[in-house]
Amino acid sequence: MGIMQDYIEEAERDLLHTYNRYQVVFDHGDGVRLYDLNGKDYLDFVSGIGVFALGYGNREYNEAVKSQVDKILHTSNYYYNVPAIEAAKAIKKVSGMDRVFFTNSGAEAVEGALKTARKYAYLKDGKTDHEIIAMNHSFHGRTFGALSVTGTPKYREAFQPMIGNIKFAELNNIDSVKALVNEKTCAILFETVQGEGGIHPAEEAFIKEVRKICDENDILMMLDEIQCGMGRTGEYYAWQRFGIKPDVMTSAKALGCGVPVGAFMMTEKVGQNSLVAGDHGTTYGGNPLGGAAIVEVFRQFEERKITDHVKEVGQYLYEKLEEVAKAHDDIKDHRGVGLLQGLEFDHPVADIINKALDKGLVLINAGTDIIRFIPPLVIEKSDVDEMIDILNSCL
Ligand SMILES: *Cc1c(COP(=O)(O)O)cnc(C)c1O
Repeated sequence: MGIMQDYIEEAERDLLHTYNRYQVVFDHGDGVRLYDLNGKDYLDFVSGIGVFALGYGNREYNEAVKSQVDKILHTSNYYYNVPAIEAAKAIKKVSGMDRVFFTNSGAEAVEGALKTARKYAYLKDGKTDHEIIAMNHSFHGRTFGALSVTGTPKYREAFQPMIGNIKFAELNNIDSVKALVNEKTCAILFETVQGEGGIHPAEEAFIKEVRKICDENDILMMLDEIQCGMGRTGEYYAWQRFGIKPDVMTSAKALGCGVPVGAFMMTEKVGQNSLVAGDHGTTYGGNPLGGAAIVEVFRQFEERKITDHVKEVGQYLYEKLEEVAKAHDDIKDHRGVGLLQGLEFDHPVADIINKALDKGLVLINAGTDIIRFIPPLVIEKSDVDEMIDILNSCL
């Protein structure tokens, strides 16, 4: 305990206290297992919140990143670089989007999407009073633009005023959206599956209705796929289950599988009618290191048929969690899709998560009453069985 406790005390002295951290210092990982400083091993059902899709200690990924480090880490967006070009090609191939802008994080991808929406509308009518419709219980990040469209008042309150002209509707309630649409509306933004807000998938009928409203009024449909994208639902992007396509989308988290990258993408039509040279930029976004990571991630996704694997193991996880939910009266709901699922309890789940950690299982909450299951996508059925055993022993 000694060394680990020392580091935790140091962290609490030196780092700004913006997280209530679990009392563990992870040191390294292997596959779907994490090891703390004492060498204790844990089965990981969090993957750094949906980042480490391909597991830890992934040799080929590590080699791809290392060889790029040896070659060149950074140039500038004033020059072209091959990894970024290849990464954009890979994203276009699986998403069907046409134009990519690389960022360093999810929040920055959302910022870019918001600027895209305002510019698109501005070019149409020259006005600067356009409105964006976002959803209650959404989460889009911590920067001011992203925070402004995050539908959880407690995250916003102390930091008012937000950017203006944001309205909030209710996910899966199309009337609540229609009630807010007017001639000023330039975008409707939501997560295809709400993550932080409690694992709420957008329903097919809702998504299709939003698509229709956007088509009829030349409003941009913008989907945040930062958590639910990159194979997590069994498709590369969660909206691909519904035969529609957004006008703008965001990606991050598993896009780099550990190297901090994000992106926002758009159709050619939006690309031709929004941001131009001078409108937007970034120093690090789209650098060769991030690009190399993204290229290797997509290479492995294809080679290992990750989306098929997620469909299969996700279904298995669903059945197993259904059994758990049925066996416990304090579990109010079980929902989710693929390897993004949640169990909602009628009480806070922190105690359960701490017990699980003690027993070598890493879980995370989404809100206070929901346990979120967001493991590496390479998890096997035997790992699900092991997780269920430990979970049951904690309930
Ligand atoms: C994590 C997340 C973000 C923010 O990403 P950062 O990389 O933390 O800035 C935005 N949207 C969704 C849906 C997320 O899950």
